[in-house]
Amino acid sequence: MSGNSTIRDVVIIGGGPAGLTAALYLKRLGLDPLVIERSLPGGKLNEVPIIENYPGVEPVKGLELASRFLKQVQDLGVEIWYPEEVVDVSNVGGFWCVKTSGGKCVLAYALIIATGAERVRGTIRGEFEFLGRGISYCAVCDGPLYRGKVVAVVGCGEKAIKEAQYLTTIASKVYLVLEKVDEVTEAYLRRLGHVPNLEVIEGRVEEVRGRDRVEKIVVRPIDGSIKEIDVSGVFIARAEVPNTAIFRKIGINVDDRGFIIVDRSQRTNIEGVFAAGDVTGRGFQVVVACGDGAVAALSAYRYVIARRREVVRRDNVFELRVNDKVAYLRYRVEGRKLIIESVYVPEEFRGLGIGKRLVLEAAKYALSTGLSIQCECDYAKYIVEKYLRVSSD
Ligand SMILES: Cc1cc2nc3c(=O)[nH]c(=O)nc-3n(C[C@H](O)[C@H](O)[C@H](O)COP(=O)(O)OP(=O)(O)OC[C@H]3O[C@@H](n4cnc5c(N)ncnc54)[C@H](O)[C@@H]3O)c2cc1C
Repeated sequence: MSGNSTIRDVVIIGGGPAGLTAALYLKRLGLDPLVIERSLPGGKLNEVPIIENYPGVEPVKGLELASRFLKQVQDLGVEIWYPEEVVDVSNVGGFWCVKTSGGKCVLAYALIIATGAERVRGTIRGEFEFLGRGISYCAVCDGPLYRGKVVAVVGCGEKAIKEAQYLTTIASKVYLVLEKVDEVTEAYLRRLGHVPNLEVIEGRVEEVRGRDRVEKIVVRPIDGSIKEIDVSGVFIARAEVPNTAIFRKIGINVDDRGFIIVDRSQRTNIEGVFAAGDVTGRGFQVVVACGDGAVAALSAYRYVIARRREVVRRDNVFELRVNDKVAYLRYRVEGRKLIIESVYVPEEFRGLGIGKRLVLEAAKYALSTGLSIQCECDYAKYIVEKYLRVSSD
């Protein structure tokens, strides 16, 4: 297995809008990110026929915008491995070890997961043929193109109902073809109530037909009959499936749909692991993915800078300086005991594992000098008992 022996600051898994934006921010902050992308940098943006809702940019082909994103980070010198799939992630001695399908292996202080999500596709005849010519996977993105026209929404569950509801405010008529109607779906429909320009059909769309663009759908309702309905657009609204399988093993928290749970700083439940974009299950828009990527980069930056700094011991204090801020642990020695009195971490550096490092550093010092440890502060006591499995009373 070939490898890169140096430790990378941040490995970004996935080179879509979220991953490339994170790389842009990290590089400009002076770190050395590595992006690993299994397919084409730009991610799903490469599939967007025309993007009209990216602020400040005239309507542009997704492929064109994706190549601009790529050029921008490459011009800055960001390293991107592609096509190269990440197949395994593990924690080795406090560093993240990332392995790829090509047999490469890299260690990093931090990870940003930006692997996006996939939608089940291609189940309707004509779906790919008319993609971008009447077939859409995104009502928010393409709905405004169908003002005053007749459209269909195909899918299941809350997602399809919400997209149809949104489109009723734009289109003259919306056919909602629900592939499965269970109790939950029925409850959603009841809550929606009567919408004059919405017609719900339980069944399947078998085919999309047209000449240059979508003109009609062939529907098979559950009674087995066949219906042809004239429509200008078809919105396919199936659930997104996040690309998170390889991260389950490291214990990442996901919601009931499998999307990675993050806080406002894009932190996951695992120290040093951040997530951004569609893989977190919100937005499903380029601009949201980019915003997430920027926030994840800023959080990862603070984490890496703090990790790289040495803990220094002086005058009954262990301290770690980050820029002009100081995190510290106060202690005293009484007889053969090192007593931890307090631990302080500045607000902006909380949740980055700095407090833990200070306590473990103090413990290491105590053990190396033959002292036992006692904690007067609950946090230090918790860390000592959890990580060193010794009593600190
Ligand atoms: C047809 C279509 C039209 C759309 N129209 C619009 C629109 O008009 N406006 C808008 O704002 N949004 C639109 N979107 C949504 C938008 O494209 C996504 O929200 C956006 O691309 C999400 O960015 P991301 O970086 O989170 O994920 P993605 O773009 O999905 O990128 C994730 C990347 O991670 C890679 N990856 C996954 N697993 C691994 C792995 N194990 N190892 C390495 N790499 C991996 C994937 O190959 C992919 O390149 C559209 C989407 C589609 C499909």
